[in-house]
Amino acid sequence: MKTALKFNFKQIEHTEIEFIGEAPVAVFDISDEELVSFGPVKYDLKVHPVSGGALMTGFISLMTKRTCGRCLKRFDESLSVSDMSHFYERDENKEFDLIPDMREDILVALPLNSVCGKNCKGLCLVCGTDLNSGECGCENPSSFPNTDAWGKLDKLKISKPKPKGHKNGSSKKKKI
Ligand SMILES: [Zn+2]
Ligand SMILES: [Zn+2]
Repeated sequence: MKTALKFNFKQIEHTEIEFIGEAPVAVFDISDEELVSFGPVKYDLKVHPVSGGALMTGFISLMTKRTCGRCLKRFDESLSVSDMSHFYERDENKEFDLIPDMREDILVALPLNSVCGKNCKGLCLVCGTDLNSGECGCENPSSFPNTDAWGKLDKLKISKPKPKGHKNGSSKKKKI
């Protein structure tokens, strides 16, 4: 599927051009990750001539499915970039692609950590119960203090085998 998000200076000699539509996130060379998957990207952009070049303005929005950094539930979060503004220096012989700048704006807008709600209580550090669904009965239930999803995932791997030192060639032993 080809999405034409390109322009050249002949097209905008006397008028602005509009790009309104929707494109799969793959067009922007962005792929789903463990903590977030992306819906299609909606865009509403204009390219108009300005002194010395062209200006692209407008906004883009997309739905994402993310993993809550506290309770690890999946939830929907919309992402939008408004007030986009990119300048393209005048070059009659070139075709300009809007996709790289759109891609960059999407990635910049993507929060590193997300929580499903301001009041998410997270998981009990002791037993792993989702404290949003009730108390767990632990004497000192404690939830994750911050929203670092990776740190939490690490702590949840209770049965993770401890790294074993190499049997041979331990660098700590000194030869006498
Ligand atoms: Zn949550
Ligand atoms: Zn507990």
